[in-house]
Amino acid sequence: MLTSIAGKSTIVTGGSKGIGKGIAKVFAAQGARIMIAARGEEAAKAAVAEIESAGGTAAYHLCDVADWDGVQGLIKATKDTYGSVDILCANAGIFPQIKMVDMSPEDWDGVMSTNLKSTFLCVKACIPEFEAQGKGRVVVTSSITGPVTGFPGWSHYGASKAGQLGFLKTAAMELSKYNTTINAVMPGNIYTEGLQDLGEDYLATMANSIPLKRLGAVEDIGNAALFFASDEAAYITGQQIVVDGGQILPESLEALEEI
Ligand code: NAP
Repeated sequence: MLTSIAGKSTIVTGGSKGIGKGIAKVFAAQGARIMIAARGEEAAKAAVAEIESAGGTAAYHLCDVADWDGVQGLIKATKDTYGSVDILCANAGIFPQIKMVDMSPEDWDGVMSTNLKSTFLCVKACIPEFEAQGKGRVVVTSSITGPVTGFPGWSHYGASKAGQLGFLKTAAMELSKYNTTINAVMPGNIYTEGLQDLGEDYLATMANSIPLKRLGAVEDIGNAALFFASDEAAYITGQQIVVDGGQILPESLEALEEI
């Protein structure tokens, strides 16, 4: 049992859908007060309603996490709503698949801005709050794609996700001054709304390539993030954890078939 995070003001960027919504629901179930950041209002509103109907506390703020003014507005809105910022889950991300031969410089910059620059902007904007609180927690959603594995069409995405891990090593040192930790969760293939369109057969094939024989649930990522945000993880910083059901372990197809 982890020490309670009840009442903690928690920003979850990209909390309106997929993994971010999973993180928001796991934290809200433990009593955290959630501020969802996203661009689209309909999904953000629906996510807040879902959390509230389960007895949780949530609000949303619309912004682009790649925009400095937008991120500063998010911090202000969170302070105005809850009085402080205790935890930042920097999770928002995009993964348009496009091979290098067709990729434009603008495609590259767009993914870098939304996935990597946003991580820096959100952490930077929270520093005064963590300093004022004398404590803070940051959990970044990276990926196995980039830091560990590759996938055609995701060179920009993989670079952005590996970049987040590079960022957090130095960020951990700088944030230690504010008694703040920063760690990353690296999801494997997680079952989100976006994957539903891929069809049963494709999903079954994906599940079969994972030793634990299932795609991850968004709550699997939420639970790992919850640990990093807890008091019990107070002495862990600058680290990352793979949450993938063993997906990166098999060294060959034969290895999988031997199970
Ligand atoms: P998703 O279902 O597409 O959700 C993405 C969330 O991010 C949405 O709430 C979206 O809301 C928000 N978002 C996107 N761009 C934004 C921007 N510029 N400003 C503010 N919010 C923005 O994606 P997901 O699969 O849950 O992925 C979430 C994170 O997990 C990403 O960082 C991704 O790299 C990582 N990840 C996912 C998987 C997986 O299997 N799903 C695996 C490894 C890592 P709006 O579009 O309304 O802004």
